[in-house]
Amino acid sequence: MTDLPLITHWVDGAPWEGTSQRRLTIIEPSSGAPQAEVSLASDDDVASAVASASRAFASWGKVSLAKRTAVLFAFRELLAANRDPLAAIVTREHGKTLDDARGELDRGLEVVELACGLGQLLKGDYSEGVSTGIDTHSVRAPLGVVAGITPFNFPVMVPLWMHPLAIACGNAFILKPSEKDPSAALFLADLWSRAGLPAGVFSVVQGDRVAVDALLTHPDVRAVSFVGSTPIARHVYETSARHGKRVQALGGAKNHMVVLPDADLDAAADAAVSAGFGSAGQRCMAVSVVVAVGGVGDDLVERIRSRAVSLTVGPGTTAGSDMGPLITREHRDRVASYLDSAMADGADVVLDGRGVAVEGSPEGNWLGPCLVDQVKAGMAVYDDEVFGPVLSVVRVGSLDEALELVNAGPYGNGTAIFTADGASARRYSAEVEVGMVGVNVSIPVPVAAYPFGGWKDSLFGDTHVYGTDGVRFYTRGRVVTSRWGAPKVGHDLTFPGNA
Ligand code: NAD
Repeated sequence: MTDLPLITHWVDGAPWEGTSQRRLTIIEPSSGAPQAEVSLASDDDVASAVASASRAFASWGKVSLAKRTAVLFAFRELLAANRDPLAAIVTREHGKTLDDARGELDRGLEVVELACGLGQLLKGDYSEGVSTGIDTHSVRAPLGVVAGITPFNFPVMVPLWMHPLAIACGNAFILKPSEKDPSAALFLADLWSRAGLPAGVFSVVQGDRVAVDALLTHPDVRAVSFVGSTPIARHVYETSARHGKRVQALGGAKNHMVVLPDADLDAAADAAVSAGFGSAGQRCMAVSVVVAVGGVGDDLVERIRSRAVSLTVGPGTTAGSDMGPLITREHRDRVASYLDSAMADGADVVLDGRGVAVEGSPEGNWLGPCLVDQVKAGMAVYDDEVFGPVLSVVRVGSLDEALELVNAGPYGNGTAIFTADGASARRYSAEVEVGMVGVNVSIPVPVAAYPFGGWKDSLFGDTHVYGTDGVRFYTRGRVVTSRWGAPKVGHDLTFPGNA
């Protein structure tokens, strides 16, 4: 037993400790100090949450679209009004700066606003007189209980990619947030409750792989949305499919930013620094490789270096901090080790962030911006998803070579091209094997009306998240064929034709 506060589950519309005695200590990344303990659900705890969600679905799936819309609007207002307290929770447990945390909330809010238009999103089709006296209409029906399993790096935005649409579509949703920063999920649950969502329609199950596997194999969970690293995404995809579930599993990334010689190099350097070091590089849409084309390498590296050295590393709550700590000490050390391997592989470490010291916070998981030049495919720093503030620069001779390099990689999440030439941008956008492409935009996360998703090892499944893909994922089609007022025809055992 400890005196640390307990972060619970949220089941049946209220906090719930569960029956499992397994706990994990939450360490604040900027101070290294224990903050709380989180419950880790057992199979039985997950079964209780699913039973509650199943009961809730029985009525929520039949609630009118007008009443659902009213709850969504109320949730949207509460979320917007609680921007600051929610950002503070994210910063405390994740470490990112407060402005960055508010930014993730704003992007999640967009999806709630999309879901507020559920009357439009769920419209079916109607055809009168498809045959004599026969009409046909189609509807999108909810699935039942659906689950979302989310990563540590966006504890608010990624859950918001999923559950507002799932709930708007009439499902009951169970969120299994990352065990590394679990508190934001409970804050969201409380907001839903205050918005008038019936108990059990939104639940939170805290936990690790035990909780995940219990959700993936539970017969009453109809669909699973996952966002996290590629090995776990593959496991979630295969296990869910084997258990007859619909699944979308978004994985890791290695995003390249291609800079052509005609680009505005100051704009490109600013974009590389923002996208490479924002959130200490712990974003699935972070730029981790800059591809310098046709001789811009020396100039571009110097422009990036001179900007990166001026970044301030410090607690996310301190005004003026540009970059917070990494999520755990273990992850910080793993990321830092790529500098040793890069040097051993013959790359040139232009900026080494390992020496950074933050006054007053000696135990934080600090790593300053790192810039590695002369990187090549085959080096660990290039091949692996580093997921930290390590920006690699690869030099190539032409756009052809850049395309070949990017398309040879296993991931296909995001990419960007910086150029002043429309034809080059158009060609890159058309030929690159990546799901989200930015033209002079380094973090091309689509707005909520367009789906988010990568290709290749960055996404397993058929649909991307949010946008119209989200509505399709959380509903199934039904087509109704009706006869009213047509003359009786008597028995006819032949297959019904149309006339
Ligand atoms: P992670 O894969 O370690 O964890 C994600 C979720 O899976 C967590 O809820 C965790 O509890 C669970 N999990 C972890 N190990 C498991 C196991 N063995 N069995 C079952 N479940 C398990 O990812 P993370 O470290 O939290 O997040 C960072 C990763 O997420 C990076 O790879 C990043 O690229 C990726 N990510 C991808 C996107 C995207 O949109 N493609 C978005 C955000 C993050």
